[in-house]
Amino acid sequence: MTQSIRKAVKDTPAYPFQAIDVPVKLDQNENPYDFPAELKAKVAERILSVPFNRYPDLHADRLKVAIGKYENWNPEGIVVTPGSNVLLHQLTSLAGLRQRVLTVKPTFAVYTLEASLLESELTLVPLNADFSLPVEALKAELQKGGPGIFYITEPHAPTGKLDSKEEVEALLEVAQQHGWLSVVDEAYYQFGGNDFRYTVEKYRNVIITRTFSKAWGLAGLRLGYALTTVELATELQKLVSAFNVNALTTAAVEVALENPEYVQKIADEQCSERDRMVEALQKHPTWKVYPSATNFFLVRTPNASEAYQGLIQHGVLVRRQDSGFMLEGVLRVSVGTPEENDTFLDAAFKVQAE
Ligand SMILES: *Cc1c(COP(=O)(O)O)cnc(C)c1O
Repeated sequence: MTQSIRKAVKDTPAYPFQAIDVPVKLDQNENPYDFPAELKAKVAERILSVPFNRYPDLHADRLKVAIGKYENWNPEGIVVTPGSNVLLHQLTSLAGLRQRVLTVKPTFAVYTLEASLLESELTLVPLNADFSLPVEALKAELQKGGPGIFYITEPHAPTGKLDSKEEVEALLEVAQQHGWLSVVDEAYYQFGGNDFRYTVEKYRNVIITRTFSKAWGLAGLRLGYALTTVELATELQKLVSAFNVNALTTAAVEVALENPEYVQKIADEQCSERDRMVEALQKHPTWKVYPSATNFFLVRTPNASEAYQGLIQHGVLVRRQDSGFMLEGVLRVSVGTPEENDTFLDAAFKVQAE
């Protein structure tokens, strides 16, 4: 039955995720607050006038205009997909299909899964021990040359670390000189990251990816976008199937873009909650906490399995990261509401004492 399925597909593991029902859900880096109720009401009203029998825009054309206005970006340099994970797939087939894919490790699982599915030659350069960028080793790989795609996550996932802007720019420059396409994944930029949009104009081979799943609180609607040059957007767009953003998501995201004030307000609260949690955990007797510029952070525990199960016993779900490179004993904690974060902190200190 399966003899026609490519070996690369069979050899690629499934996306690593298991849904568990626990009251305090800090495992997926979601916004803990639902989309504001008054905006949801506006969306509901707008959806009443959406004809369900008609196809949506061919390539989310109206959304490109709305995103372009929000980002101050030429709509022709924008590509929109149902979640930025779809973009990562298309980007890998744009430049990494049977060509090189280069990034660091530990890294975001989607880059490596897509590279494996698309038979890319994958190179993962280890981060430094303090999770900073291995600048010289990455430069050496970049200098070996493309063609291929260089992924860099800013701020980094899964470590949450804010990299030096100068180091990132230096890498983008070498990538440009040696025939690579560079993707800067800015899924978490609203939580204290740098804004690398200027590098698109400067180097002309850079694609920035952003998402409505995190700070915007719209993970359930699925929408991501790329900001790049008109030339690259035109090629990337060819890989995205027609009519792939549905009319309901379009209506909701349009309302969000017309009312963006809530986003930074919640992101600011998430940042101060994150800093409060990180500071509290510095007093933890056995866990080491890592600072972060995202809406999540890592803790290194003496035994990830025990700590993870112990937290579940107290009604708190986090994400195990301990099978990752350099991540022995590590759990990832998303920032929740202040009440959820108190429950987590309480549990974190109890788990250790039990
Ligand atoms: C969450 C996340 C995304 C966004 O994925 P969507 O498909 O837009 O929900 C992209 N990159 C990284 C590193 C992420 O953590």
